[in-house]
Amino acid sequence: MLRLTNVILPLDHPEADLRAAVLDRLKIAGADLLGLTIFRRGYDARRRSQITLVYTLEVEVKDEAAVLAKALPNVTVAPDTSYKFVAQAPAQTASRPVVIGFGPCGIFAALILAQMGFRPIILERGKVVRERTKDTWGLWRKRELNPESNVQFGEGGAGTFSDGKLHSGIKDPKHYGRKVLTEFVKAFAPEEILYVSKPHIGTFRLVKMVEAMRETIASLGGEFRFEAKVTDIEIDNGQVRGVVLEGGERIATDHVVLAVGHSARDTFQMLYDRGVYVEAKPFSVGFRIEHPQSVIDRARFGKFAGHPLLGAADYKLVHHCGNGRTVYSFCMCPGGTVVAATSEAGRVVTNGMSQYSRNERNANSGFVVGINPEDFGGDKHPLAGIDFQRELESRAFEMGGGNYDAPGQLVGDFLAGRPSKAFGSVQPSYKPGVHLTDLAPSLPAYAIEAMREAIPAFDRQIRGYAMADAMLTGVETRTSSPVRIKRLDNFQSVNVKGLFPAGEGAGYAGGILSAGVDGIKVAEAVALSMTGAADAR
Ligand code: FAD
Repeated sequence: MLRLTNVILPLDHPEADLRAAVLDRLKIAGADLLGLTIFRRGYDARRRSQITLVYTLEVEVKDEAAVLAKALPNVTVAPDTSYKFVAQAPAQTASRPVVIGFGPCGIFAALILAQMGFRPIILERGKVVRERTKDTWGLWRKRELNPESNVQFGEGGAGTFSDGKLHSGIKDPKHYGRKVLTEFVKAFAPEEILYVSKPHIGTFRLVKMVEAMRETIASLGGEFRFEAKVTDIEIDNGQVRGVVLEGGERIATDHVVLAVGHSARDTFQMLYDRGVYVEAKPFSVGFRIEHPQSVIDRARFGKFAGHPLLGAADYKLVHHCGNGRTVYSFCMCPGGTVVAATSEAGRVVTNGMSQYSRNERNANSGFVVGINPEDFGGDKHPLAGIDFQRELESRAFEMGGGNYDAPGQLVGDFLAGRPSKAFGSVQPSYKPGVHLTDLAPSLPAYAIEAMREAIPAFDRQIRGYAMADAMLTGVETRTSSPVRIKRLDNFQSVNVKGLFPAGEGAGYAGGILSAGVDGIKVAEAVALSMTGAADAR
């Protein structure tokens, strides 16, 4: 199989043109082309008047050696992207690994371990995804928060009520991302996620996929415990020996995958109290911003706005400010809604989600400023970032009126430094509601200064970004984990053997795909350790 990259065709090209382009590029006759599949399809919208499709293709030809001998540009042997297991559980193994957390990282750690025969025990503090959905909507519709079952906690993890974007900038020489996408497709994700350059799934499908993956893992011997919060961890002489659930039940194990996500603040505290090495890490804080999706589509696609192959337009923006801060767009959700994403009572946190169709009226994205441990006392205490997040989230709760409404402001008023009094043409989508105010006191002054500088700079890239009626809601604080649970090259904690910190909460992933990839890596490390192969390496 050969791989042919950078095949560029007009947006509305007839299907037959793809085959013709391959024959032309490979300089072969039609009879010599045996097969053609699209490996990736992206678009180049840098020139709005002439948007093109950019393909990576896999082609089967009669005489591969002859084509390669021509040394044509962008033609290589297609790499083998299939996944290969690193170990197999011994037939008589009695010990079982424990996976804490069933978000994308825990899902893939558990799946790979189960596929290798290790029969993992999965402990998840939240409820099964259908029950969890009701609780999550409880906050959005009735202002009732369940601190153990919400946007952050429960089967499927933080990404379940999301846009389900599946691209990531991580280096992936072993093609683990392909394994993640392939397993998602087996679990009923749309097949196009395997080849479109920026795949997304949307919330409804994610719920079904999570259930299907749970069934697969269970059918391979995995054991699930929901509403099973790990509240303690037993360490003997630097080696994990077990975990303790709320209520006191003890589960003995020498191998624990810790995939608890970035909001497990009580778990981070417990690990710190038990002496597990944890350090503060940078993260970002800011607001959500909403524009009409039509404004973003026009700015990005011009006359091609609304084209079915392009879908609702997204953007990715960065601005380096005069005061040394970096402001950037985060987790952009085209045609989606802003969601209430707190897991703690008396706090307000924003995030974004969408359905597969991405056909809601507004585009939203995080509009955030990078902060460092020195900004929040992280150089003095490893958990200081959590205190800082809590402080901002509590303030936002008060500013929103103390009933889970989010504080909000129009962009024009934010730039002018005056409180907003009435909504403009952009209706905010955040539920239960938005309370208009002045957002400036909600974040440190350096962040507000940086954001005011970034808005006009972003407007130069996306015309309309600075529109006076665009809506800001705050605060966005859960952009990534405020801590890193440091691990060695063997994926085990730097000071506790058998403890495998993983995924976003441990500081090793930043999104669904990268968390899934990290889950695979950690599962492999667990398997190698359990079979003794790690020592032999
Ligand atoms: P999580 O998904 O956070 O999973 C951790 C799990 O551990 C949770 O289910 C939690 O209940 C459980 N847990 C925690 N503590 C314990 C304990 N003590 N005992 C037992 N269980 C415990 N990323 C994208 O790539 N694309 C997107 O479009 C996207 N949109 C998002 C939208 C929203 C609203 C949110 C909140 C996040 C979004 N993200 C998105 C980020 C993405 O969800 C996370 O990066 C990803 O879920 C991290 O995976 P994880 O498995 O490391 O952690």
